[in-house]
Amino acid sequence: MKTAFIYSDDFAKYDYGRGHPLKPFRLKLTYELIKAYGLLSLPDVRIIEAKPAEEADLLLYHTSDYIDVLKAANGGLEIPWEGSYGLGFGDNPVFEGVFDWSRLVVGASLQATELVDSGEVPIAFNISGGLHHARASRASGFCYVNDPVIVISSLLKKGRRVAYIDIDVHHGDGVQDAFYHTDKVLTISLHESGRRLFPGTGFESEIGEGKGRGYSVNVPMPPFSDDELFMYAFNEVVPSLIQRFRPDIVVSQLGVDSFVTDRLAHLNCTTNGFCEVVRKIKDISPRWIALGGGGYEITNVAKAWTLAWAIMNNVDLPDELPQAFLEQHPLEGFRSRKLRDEEYQERGPRKEMMRDEVRRIVAGISENVLPLITPPI
Ligand SMILES: [Zn+2]
Repeated sequence: MKTAFIYSDDFAKYDYGRGHPLKPFRLKLTYELIKAYGLLSLPDVRIIEAKPAEEADLLLYHTSDYIDVLKAANGGLEIPWEGSYGLGFGDNPVFEGVFDWSRLVVGASLQATELVDSGEVPIAFNISGGLHHARASRASGFCYVNDPVIVISSLLKKGRRVAYIDIDVHHGDGVQDAFYHTDKVLTISLHESGRRLFPGTGFESEIGEGKGRGYSVNVPMPPFSDDELFMYAFNEVVPSLIQRFRPDIVVSQLGVDSFVTDRLAHLNCTTNGFCEVVRKIKDISPRWIALGGGGYEITNVAKAWTLAWAIMNNVDLPDELPQAFLEQHPLEGFRSRKLRDEEYQERGPRKEMMRDEVRRIVAGISENVLPLITPPI
């Protein structure tokens, strides 16, 4: 099976600033681990150099006044009115090249889309993508532009039916909002409950409105949920939704900030559950555009997305990290020399309470939301 990996060393050129949790360097680290495992020289792999999107592509979702503001911010200096567009101190700082970075991420996701939609490859992966919080005229949650919304919009223009699966620990709020009123896109987000976590949305009662009723699906997981609960929820909900909706293409956001060692949230997942979910997405997707997402412990990002890329290419990797790679990155904090995490399981009364909560949520979706979806004729 042919696959495409969209990448540029320029991804790592950008810097959100000291102390900001999102480190674009994680993308280079991932690329280097993938390369060290020999996964870029497989016969069916195409490596595509990422190219910046055109401004017209950004306007598929974003407003022209917001794009003008981002452009003006590209020099890295504070600009008037930035606060009303979500820019400034905190989550979405103005940094040098912020507009160039945004164009490059969107360009890479559109390249992945073009390759998959044209039938050249059934699977393409843009690890820089998945910036699911940005809104039409506002930056949010480390995201300046929303590449999933832009690629889905480009597919809708061609009449495609698209399902979006988001496993980032944070609710995929920007993507949900963009398609909340349409039955042409099915959005599914599994995430830590918004009761304690940004962006504070994604409750099971959010199911879409008007024609879109039933086409937004949310599985808010209780804090501290582990692989077992996450996989249970995924398996109970996602395959049957996809089977009923019958998309032409699946777009997925593969955030890895759900891991027990990621400090930005409170889920307790590992590479083990992540790989099971990625395998399942591969099984149920007729064609698949895979995007990155959150992940603030950079060794997790490199390991998990290397494993994901191996699954996309049907390769089983040895668990020992390549020695040359470890020697090249002595300061990146690879605590174990293993690619995969050890199993992690919650136990005791807290686990049973979480299990009851997840059972209740998935049963509600199967009974009340799934039947609202009309299969294509
Ligand atoms: Zn996230």
